[in-house]
Amino acid sequence: PLTAPASRRAIEPQPGPDPLAYGGYFQRALDRLHGESRYRVFVDIERVAGRFPEAIWHAPGGARPVTVWCSNDYLGMGQHPAVVEALVATAQRNGVGAGGTRNISGNSHPVVALEGELADLHGKEAALVFSSGYVSNQASLSTIGRLIPGCLMISDADNHNSIIEGIRQSGCEKAIFCHNDLAHLEAILSAARDRPKIVVFESVYSMDGDVAPVAAIAGLARRYGAMTYLDEVHAVGMYGARGAGIAEAQGASDIVDILEGTLAKAYGVIGGYIAASAAIVDAIRSCAPGFIFTTALPPATAAAACASIRHLKGSDAERRAQRGQVAAVKQALAEAGLPVLDHGTHILPVLVRDAGACKAAADRLLERHGIYIQPINYPTVPKGLERLRITPTPLHTDAQIGALVEALAEVWGTLGLPLTPGRV
Ligand code: PMP
Repeated sequence: PLTAPASRRAIEPQPGPDPLAYGGYFQRALDRLHGESRYRVFVDIERVAGRFPEAIWHAPGGARPVTVWCSNDYLGMGQHPAVVEALVATAQRNGVGAGGTRNISGNSHPVVALEGELADLHGKEAALVFSSGYVSNQASLSTIGRLIPGCLMISDADNHNSIIEGIRQSGCEKAIFCHNDLAHLEAILSAARDRPKIVVFESVYSMDGDVAPVAAIAGLARRYGAMTYLDEVHAVGMYGARGAGIAEAQGASDIVDILEGTLAKAYGVIGGYIAASAAIVDAIRSCAPGFIFTTALPPATAAAACASIRHLKGSDAERRAQRGQVAAVKQALAEAGLPVLDHGTHILPVLVRDAGACKAAADRLLERHGIYIQPINYPTVPKGLERLRITPTPLHTDAQIGALVEALAEVWGTLGLPLTPGRV
């Protein structure tokens, strides 16, 4: 088959008996989420600079200390002194807001410097910053599709919602290849030899933590005359000698046409970007509504992101310390018989396989053990693969790791959750 299974959707239409009873539309959507145990509850958490991963949970009965085990601030850079100092100093010098879109008064020296830093990081001619990683994908892919008439968008089956939405908005034909499946990708490429096409994929997949064969996919795409667009959101700052991601680690930066990343995960701040040739970046800068018609990133956040990128370009200490803690958590989970997926990255999913049980486990961890891990349910993962997604940072101590695994073992035992096959 040339197309993998259809993508997961967050919202299904809910028709009701009276089409003008508007409240019903919203209530039915909420009732359905509750009925499937996937209604999301925000945990009211306050991070305290200098103390992460410890935090304060503003619980209904009063504030309580918790340890955060599910943050995407993978290296704790959101509280790094150089990053905080850059933000505070720039806010004091330049004020807080950007004051406009990039085209109308919102451009600022720190944002220009940030784009230079990002282009250098990825070894590309230029970079362009967006409000978030989500907007980077949505705005870039929808615009690329409009700029290349008849373009076939070839998308990995596990791609993130921001990619799916960007491709949908491009109006282009789409072919989905089975996740990380080079043979299936090649079949699609060879059936589209003479038409313009772009392969869109990620490097580290956020929910399983597995890694794409980036060099092989990019090489294959080249052989068939396809462009490549790589989402490195979960890899920038984390992999490669200067933290440029998996493409850098696999020596493939040169053969990937467009690299996309976030400033909000390993870099600990906010914003997203692409890095590519000067012409691609200039065209997207000039034509993408999601870039043109929105207020620019504030100078202070740009300066903070720049400080974080510079630090992780020159320092491997955080990455090394983090790998040590990831290995320690993984080993302790495996010894306790907890069903952890191990794909060799910093993302450690522990499978629960049921939405209600996953939520019950997360609630018990928080309320009884002071451990915060958000349950991951459909549509973020397929039904039946619900999980707790654990992300150890270099700042988690050995004592916190011990407390985590003890708490998980207690919760698994009390709720009767599945252990690794062969364990009781
Ligand atoms: N791409 C992927 C693969 C993601 O997982 C995410 C967010 N989790 C994004 C893009 C969006 O990044 P941001 O959070 O910076 O909007």
